[in-house]
Amino acid sequence: MASFYDFALVCQALEQTQSRNQMVELVADFLSRLDAGEAAIAARFMVGQPLAPGAGERLQVSGSALWKVASAIVGGADDAEDIFAAAVDFGEAIETVLRRRPEDPSPTLSLAEVARRFDEIAAIEGRNSRRRKLGALGDLLRLSSALEGRYVAKILVHELRHGVSEGLMLEALARMAGRPADEVRRLHMAQGDVGRVTRILREGGASVSPMETVAADRPRALKPMLAQPARNVADAFAILGPHIALEHKLDGARVQIHCRSDAVRIFSRRMNDITLSLPEVVQATSALAHRGAILDGEVIAIDREGRPRAFQEVMRRFGRRREIDRLSAEQPVALYVFDLLGLNGELTIDLPYQERYAALGELAGPAGLALAGRIVPASADEGERFYEAALAAGFEGVMAKELSSRYTPGVRGSGWLKIKRADTLDLVIVAADWGYGRRKGWLSNYHLAARDEAQGSFAAVGKTFKGLTDEEFRDLTERLLALRRDEAHGTVFVKPEIVVEVAYSDIQRSPSYPCGMTLRFARIVGIRNDKSQEEADTLATVTERFERQVLRPA
Ligand code: AMP
Repeated sequence: MASFYDFALVCQALEQTQSRNQMVELVADFLSRLDAGEAAIAARFMVGQPLAPGAGERLQVSGSALWKVASAIVGGADDAEDIFAAAVDFGEAIETVLRRRPEDPSPTLSLAEVARRFDEIAAIEGRNSRRRKLGALGDLLRLSSALEGRYVAKILVHELRHGVSEGLMLEALARMAGRPADEVRRLHMAQGDVGRVTRILREGGASVSPMETVAADRPRALKPMLAQPARNVADAFAILGPHIALEHKLDGARVQIHCRSDAVRIFSRRMNDITLSLPEVVQATSALAHRGAILDGEVIAIDREGRPRAFQEVMRRFGRRREIDRLSAEQPVALYVFDLLGLNGELTIDLPYQERYAALGELAGPAGLALAGRIVPASADEGERFYEAALAAGFEGVMAKELSSRYTPGVRGSGWLKIKRADTLDLVIVAADWGYGRRKGWLSNYHLAARDEAQGSFAAVGKTFKGLTDEEFRDLTERLLALRRDEAHGTVFVKPEIVVEVAYSDIQRSPSYPCGMTLRFARIVGIRNDKSQEEADTLATVTERFERQVLRPA
């Protein structure tokens, strides 16, 4: 059985290696010495994923909780500040404190054991769940040697810092399996999880194809294809060429529906199984069960007359497992489909979009499914008119799709562009200030950041305490505290995970922000629980909007 200690040693070696090639070799060599199941766990852990995707964010172990548990094991540490000042990162601080035990436990943990314990911590729910989670974490740390404790901590706070990105891992997996890197990347696009990819490569040998693996056994979500922003329809033509379709952009939440004869399964954009929350969508698509279809679409909230309601309303239905009947009566939803990712148990993602769409059309009509409104415009002018009409009808904007493009799961591919009125940005909360007066006891002033693709980090672009209800403040406070990393002078710094949609009046120059810009009159219009931080808007988008308004004639 592979020991977690060996895993820790390899991670340590990776931290000391600069060369990408050597890192790929180290990882490939380590993984090939493990059996398929262990290799899958090691691959996930190495890219900082304690749980298999789809499990949701249920670990809820913050850095401060980890510190509390680790320092309690040695009877407390008064010199926490010194330890953190001397440590290169959080994992090293945990290692330092664990070294204070009279004897370092000899390593006994296997990779599978650590994975099992992470799953167990995630599964703890209900009464006293926080205390029970911390108890289980304490048990794990007590069993860990100091070096192992360092990596348990690093995995749990998603901060490995050894430079193994998902991209590097896929290269290493290709080397491990002796397969072309491109093929492994495609397999990953279809599977959406390095752990599963590792297992398939190890078990499937040379015969594996991404298509077969999805058709097999139980339904697995594919990562949804993402879109890049474009300024307007003319730009979409310039970027994608003349052969495009425009579709209404519905303001709802993304769903992927697997219709199989044994069951219909619905997955959220983050690939969580939300079938139980949306019985009417199961009902609406069950006619396609015998066709083995995989549909991509959007669920929107509607009122009793069938008119669309705000995005926040649809989120009330997602992920709920209780009182579904009451909720679906109170807040009905409607499904619109726009793509077909599989048919008769085969993936169709490699077919051109126009063929996928034609096949979707043939299925949707007889099954009574609604398609997003669409045209194939003959000119940019015609496209512009469709866009204006879409806005006037209350849609968020339009999606432009290149007719011959493949469906690229999880990739902000060049085939899809989103065009909407530039009045909101999806930003990540990176810190929050404790409130005062009426908001005392809540984290209520949120520091908002855009994704800085060049730096691989987040760049602060503004702050706001506007736009939320009391209940949302309370809920966000709790969630942010679970992501707490550090605190100073009334500001809590958090793991950048929560995405919010922010409206603003304009973007100003500002020397107080390192990027030199800030949003004026920022206001939160929605908490985007359906989006991960990788889907937040980029600093490049903020800059582009800033420049555009500067160029705008006064
Ligand atoms: P955004 O959330 O602004 O990044 O825009 C992309 C999202 O728009 C997708 O992930 C879908 O959830 C949603 N969407 C709405 N209508 C469509 C459509 N017709 N085609 C593709 N995506 C759509």
